[in-house]
Amino acid sequence: MIYFNAHTHQQSDAPDSISLVNLEIQESILTDCPGSDPRTIYSCGIHPRAIHEAWEKDLHTIECLLQQKKLSALGECGLDKLSDTPAELQEKVFNAQIALAHTHHVPLIIHCVRAFDQLLSIRKKQAISDTMIIHGYRGGAGLTAQLLKADHLYFSFGANYSTDSLKMIPTERLFIETDTTSVSLMTLYRQVASTLQISEQLLAEQILSNKKRVFPL
Ligand SMILES: [Zn+2]
Repeated sequence: MIYFNAHTHQQSDAPDSISLVNLEIQESILTDCPGSDPRTIYSCGIHPRAIHEAWEKDLHTIECLLQQKKLSALGECGLDKLSDTPAELQEKVFNAQIALAHTHHVPLIIHCVRAFDQLLSIRKKQAISDTMIIHGYRGGAGLTAQLLKADHLYFSFGANYSTDSLKMIPTERLFIETDTTSVSLMTLYRQVASTLQISEQLLAEQILSNKKRVFPL
C-alpha cells in the first residue's frame, strides 16, 4: 500500500509513502533544490502571509524552478483574511501565481482562510479551470456544497476537518496531508477510511490514482 501525502513541510524516507514537499523560497533554492524522485515531489509558492516588497523576485525564483522542471505544483499560495498583507496585494500576487501555474501546466496548492467567495470569483472572472487543491480543508457542509460545484477543485484533509464535509466529497476529489503537524500520515488515512467506512486499501488506491491524475510529473 502506498500513501500519498499531498502537503508537508518535511522530507520523509518512509518506503511506503510519496510526499509533495513544500519548499521555502530562499536564495539557495535554485542550486539546492534536489528535483523530484519516485518518493518525493516538490511545490513552492508565495504564501499570502509571506508577501514582502520584493515578491516579484520570489516569483522569478519559482519561475526558474518551474523551467528546470523541479516543481510538480505551485503553492502554497492564495488568500488569507487573517493576514496583515492588504487584500489587494494578496490578490495581485495570487493572480500572478495562477498565471505562472497555467503557463507551466502545474496544479496550485491553495491556502485559503475566510476568502472562499473571493477564490471562486477569481476563478469565474478569469474563466480559470486550472486544477487547485485546497490544502488543510476545514470548511463546513454549506461551503463544501458550494465548492463542489466548481470543476477541477480538490480537497486535502489534514488533522482537523469537518466529518460532514468529508462524507460529502467524492473520493476522486480527495487528498490527505500532514502539513506541519506531527500526526502520522497512516493515522490520518486510518481516520478518514473509518469515517468513510471504506478500507484503507481502497482509500489509498483512490488517492494514489488522484495523485497520478493531478500530478503527472
Ligand atoms: Zn503548509
